[in-house]
Amino acid sequence: MKSIKRLPQVDGELGWYLTAPNVDRKVGRALKGEQQADIAIIGAGFTGLAAAERLQELYPDKTIAVVEALDVGQGTSGRNAGFIIDLPHNVDAKENSAAEDMQLYALNQFAIARLFERMQTYSINCLWHHAGKYMVAREDKNVKGLDDFERTLKKRDFAYQRLNRSELAQRLGTDYYQDGIFTPGNILMNPAALVRGLALGLQKHIDVYTHSPVIGIDYGDVHQIHTVGGVLRAKTIVQTMSSFSEETGLVKNKIAPVFTYGSLTDPLPDNIVSQYFQNIEPWGLTSAHPAGTTVRFTPDKRILVRNILEFNPNQASTAEVRQKAWQQHRASFVARFPFLEHIDFQYTWGGLLAVTLNHNSVFEKLADNVYGICGCNGVGVAKGTYLGYYMAEMMHGNHSAELEFILQTSHANRIPPEPFRSIGARHQIKREQSAAGMDI
Ligand SMILES: Cc1cc2nc3c(=O)[nH]c(=O)nc-3n(C[C@H](O)[C@H](O)[C@H](O)COP(=O)(O)OP(=O)(O)OC[C@H]3O[C@@H](n4cnc5c(N)ncnc54)[C@H](O)[C@@H]3O)c2cc1C
Repeated sequence: MKSIKRLPQVDGELGWYLTAPNVDRKVGRALKGEQQADIAIIGAGFTGLAAAERLQELYPDKTIAVVEALDVGQGTSGRNAGFIIDLPHNVDAKENSAAEDMQLYALNQFAIARLFERMQTYSINCLWHHAGKYMVAREDKNVKGLDDFERTLKKRDFAYQRLNRSELAQRLGTDYYQDGIFTPGNILMNPAALVRGLALGLQKHIDVYTHSPVIGIDYGDVHQIHTVGGVLRAKTIVQTMSSFSEETGLVKNKIAPVFTYGSLTDPLPDNIVSQYFQNIEPWGLTSAHPAGTTVRFTPDKRILVRNILEFNPNQASTAEVRQKAWQQHRASFVARFPFLEHIDFQYTWGGLLAVTLNHNSVFEKLADNVYGICGCNGVGVAKGTYLGYYMAEMMHGNHSAELEFILQTSHANRIPPEPFRSIGARHQIKREQSAAGMDI
């Protein structure tokens, strides 16, 4: 049996999960005793649930089960910043071809439409709003990131507006940024509420096992998936465990586990909102620098701050590191909103990005009747949704230009083994974070 050593844990106070309107609804049950399924999916994030949903549509007569270590919404899918990004993510100014950019855009649009349709079908309240997105710079040196982005937007004929400091201040309620680009297609939501809603809807048709970390797998004609006190036998497995994928031994030296951290306030008091955020629509912004800070002003008047990158091969964050992240979040928050200095964060948490060197994902048949997807980098809500969907299509033998494109662009580069991996990753992150300057 291949035993799985590192398991997901709850890394801090998970703000989106704890404030999700559907947090009290029970998703799934623990995997105990002897269970069976035709297809088992490990990992109930956006990727695993998208695969499960499409497999259920394509194989209505097969039994499908999803196994999740935590509660649904406690994994990284419920810990992210809640952007469903429509545009190819090119802050690092990697030159894609026009065809590549347009195909990525079409796939992101597909994922947004698919999630929107599921949200309506399952009546999910996740504070979904079509807010667009700001990409912003505080420092002169980081304006270059905006110029690169604008060049691509222009070349590909995507809609956008370039905004100066006072235009940004009017829309954001802070005059911290000197320059920015608004693009209209991005969606913002509470990611824990959305991913839980998807699982709550799906569990009418498939078995969902929660609080069931997979501690070992016997791969064979019929695979055996072991949890404490349970075993699930399945002919086919789809592994969507993100940064934990290498634990199974079937993905090797492709994924760098990188923690990033978020903090969320309670809803701001009415008097603060009317004084400082009167007529300000909810918004979300990302930085023109890849290591810069993400900020949101949510429909229920909370502020989210996300920053800090930490290479962490143990895949578990400590309270000490979360305390440091909180200190940086406070500094970033007060710099942007000095008038909110007396407002505390109620929640601070960490989540793991599964980073690949060339931003390609792993999307492949890993062994006989074992399929794997991981390495969604920082854009997994849309990417995981379309990769999960098209993995199901591939398993069913369906051909399409979209699947062909995904197969052609899913060749994650090999990451050097330890100790070079840790040394290289830490050095790179340190350099990036200090280069971001006041955009952190
Ligand atoms: C703070 C933060 C902000 C981010 N912001 C954004 C954003 O705004 N937009 C965006 O698109 N992306 C964002 N990301 C990235 C995004 O969250 C990920 O790309 C996405 O969650 C990947 O989805 P997934 O389903 O592939 O993996 P995950 O969401 O990690 O799901 C994998 C699941 O597998 C489970 N699992 C792992 N091992 C086992 C095991 N042994 N047994 C059982 N279950 C197991 C885990 O518990 C987990 O729930 C952010 C990430 C972080 C950390």
